Amino acid sequence: MKQTILVTGGAGYIGSHTCVELLASGYDIVVVDNFSNSKPAVLDRVGQISGQEFPWYEIDVRDRAALARVFGKHRFSGVLHCAGVKSIAEAQRDPLKYYQHNLEASLTLLEEMAERGLKRLVFSSSATVYGECTQIPYREESPLKPNTVYGRSKMVVEDVLHDLASADESWRIAILRYFNPVGAHPSGLIGEDPNGTPNNLMPYICQVAVGKQAELAIFGHDYPTPDGTGVRDYLHVADLAEGHVRALDYLGRETGLVTFNLGTGRGYSVLEVVRAFEHASGRAIPFRYAPRRSGDLASYYADTSRAANTLDWRAKRSLGEMCADAWRWQSKNPGGYA
Ligand code: UDP
Repeated sequence: MKQTILVTGGAGYIGSHTCVELLASGYDIVVVDNFSNSKPAVLDRVGQISGQEFPWYEIDVRDRAALARVFGKHRFSGVLHCAGVKSIAEAQRDPLKYYQHNLEASLTLLEEMAERGLKRLVFSSSATVYGECTQIPYREESPLKPNTVYGRSKMVVEDVLHDLASADESWRIAILRYFNPVGAHPSGLIGEDPNGTPNNLMPYICQVAVGKQAELAIFGHDYPTPDGTGVRDYLHVADLAEGHVRALDYLGRETGLVTFNLGTGRGYSVLEVVRAFEHASGRAIPFRYAPRRSGDLASYYADTSRAANTLDWRAKRSLGEMCADAWRWQSKNPGGYA
């Protein structure tokens, strides 16, 4: 019997790639999404790639009654909770929105799960929970000092999950701390499609490459890094998607709560990413140096040994593949899903 997994935020960037991987791994899926930062067309593309159809519902996870109707229609064996809002800048301006969407939604989902006796959850967290922790690479037990509202909204949910797992040992919970997911499915059918001007580096570079943005502003070139630009742990979204499936499989065998860093374990600078993208796309990426972006850290990357040892998961795809796949998606869909 196939297991059915509920994917919240399944039409989002991470959610959609994870849906493809779940279907390829023999799971059935049901998606819920409020489409606040995604489009139903994404789910058609997931179906096209997978050659499989699956049910989806336009609901907001904070809507308990709507969520209960979905739980009433299907028999789930686990939940992947990817739904959430994720703009660091917007969160600073509108903290209540971030606690509403990221904390309230998680509480509603957890209450519904608890009531139904469904206690297997993979939660999308973020490396931003480490914030100003000075120990690099970040290890899962490194102190959490998020320096942004967004990071705190993720940390608070992590705290709730810890309390839940301590109170009831039958919960099976994996917290996944994503580093910098980039790239796209190699088909070029799904990828990252931010609303408005992109905040993140790779989608911004992609838009420069197709002429939607004139040039890249590189935020800071006086950091204490080899070339002065910020260093991050970029990982291919397909590797990240595989990490979710490994975590879900693991929770089929083990109870309790475990946290995993998902990254490659090495950092690349902004300039290295620009060069790799130019090489992969054959396009020049004009850039200028701009002041540091407030709240940015110089350099961080993951210690990935726990995911390697416990889940037998490693990010396999190179920076070149991340750029080539991001470029294939962007060049085939210059206007995103529109
Ligand atoms: N960055 C940049 N220009 C941009 C967007 C990002 O120079 O238009 C830099 C940013 O300062 C950081 C890196 O690229 O060093 C990754 O930024 P992103 O926003 O993608 O991820 P995060 O800051 O969350 O790691």
